[in-house]
Amino acid sequence: MAKRIVILGAGESGAGAAVLAQKQGFDTFVSDMSLIKDKYKNMLNERGIQWEEGRHTEELILNADEVIKSPGIPNDAPMILKLKEQGTPIISEIEFAGRYTNAKMICITGSNGKTTTTSLIYHIFKKAGLNVGLAGNIGQSLAYQVAECNYDYYVIELSSFQLDNMYKFHANIAVLMNITPDHLDRYDYKMQNYVDAKFRIIQNQTDNDAFIFWNDDPVIQKELHKYGIHGHYYPFAEKKEEGLAAFVEQNKVYFTKPIEFNMEQEELALTGTHNLFNSMAAGISANIAGIRKECIREALSDFKGVEHRLEKVTRVRGVDYINDSKATNVNSCWYALNSMKTKTVLILGGKDKGNDYNEIADLVKEKCSGLIFLGLHNEKLHDFFDGFGLPIADVQSMKDAVDAAYRMAKKGETVLLSPCCASFDLFKSYEDRGDQFKECVRNL
Ligand code: ADP
Repeated sequence: MAKRIVILGAGESGAGAAVLAQKQGFDTFVSDMSLIKDKYKNMLNERGIQWEEGRHTEELILNADEVIKSPGIPNDAPMILKLKEQGTPIISEIEFAGRYTNAKMICITGSNGKTTTTSLIYHIFKKAGLNVGLAGNIGQSLAYQVAECNYDYYVIELSSFQLDNMYKFHANIAVLMNITPDHLDRYDYKMQNYVDAKFRIIQNQTDNDAFIFWNDDPVIQKELHKYGIHGHYYPFAEKKEEGLAAFVEQNKVYFTKPIEFNMEQEELALTGTHNLFNSMAAGISANIAGIRKECIREALSDFKGVEHRLEKVTRVRGVDYINDSKATNVNSCWYALNSMKTKTVLILGGKDKGNDYNEIADLVKEKCSGLIFLGLHNEKLHDFFDGFGLPIADVQSMKDAVDAAYRMAKKGETVLLSPCCASFDLFKSYEDRGDQFKECVRNL
């Protein structure tokens, strides 16, 4: 009898996993506690895959030989606990898909910069003419592409949640951008648990693989020695040091291995220190994959950037408006503020994930001319920032936030939406929050 695979959650990754499981001949069943989007229902129905929505029926789930869990379902959800108790293996969609392809895997994780770096690597590989798919948190799921396409390379963005349920998966090139506190609510508020999840990106690497990481990250440095890493190290940093795979000297970005080349920092399409790191990580990945240096240089210079990440919206009456809605933690807001060249009215707030605002306190004092708290519960923000002596507005809608910013910002200043928080208190998603911001700004 065919092995039974049950997939919990029918979003992009769950539906993709179901398509692949069915194709591989498993007895496949999909269960989602919420309603399944029509797009995914159609995907399942077209292939005759059984599914349920709005509930988890125990009799149809607990008889699974293996369960594929969507990253959005917490590890302590009741059904997950039951499965664990009876010893049913629970894996992620990426782990499952990895079993059915021989493609080279380029995997990117970190607290910040994942999507930008993943998109940039994909851009370089595509430009170089490689047969490459983009997967993970972006675009179509890896499982769907493994089932329906036939790529030689996959560039995969991995969140810590995806890494949580990965065991045998093997990254040929692993990129770890940085580790700062995020999602601690899902890791028992223990930073070490989150760090361990991130480092799973290098598990199963061999001597033929590569590990690219930001050398100046104190958490990465502290943890490195703990892990039995076999892959070659490709560290990068801003300042030149022995052994770095990329660094900056006299306004030039140097790449040292396997092929040595350099380019003017000015030519990088993405600006700001954080984007320098993203560009370095992407350049190293492409260098390792054997892409020609001319092609890497060109692709790093003509990349268009990713929506909702320090995205310039427009200028209204001499004030620039920047949409950084994807800054859902304090560290990414730090980088955004740090790259501001003028006084800034900062819009922040939303669903707090255990934030410590001390990290941005100095930058707020130095760069901000006003603060706008956009959230259902702004008390914590008031407690922390009220003493700074800045003008503050308290708002519960994007329209009010943009109107308040418009009144507060003086000519020559910048209005920056970089919220430090998740968006779910007032918006459907960070994309929705960014889109509303852009619309309100354009209507000014
Ligand atoms: P992720 O996918 O990890 O959330 P993104 O590439 O979407 O990261 O960027 C999210 C936000 O984080 C951006 O808006 C930017 O302000 C900030 N950011 C981007 N790259 C980095 C980096 N390397 N280090 C720190 N912050 C970054």
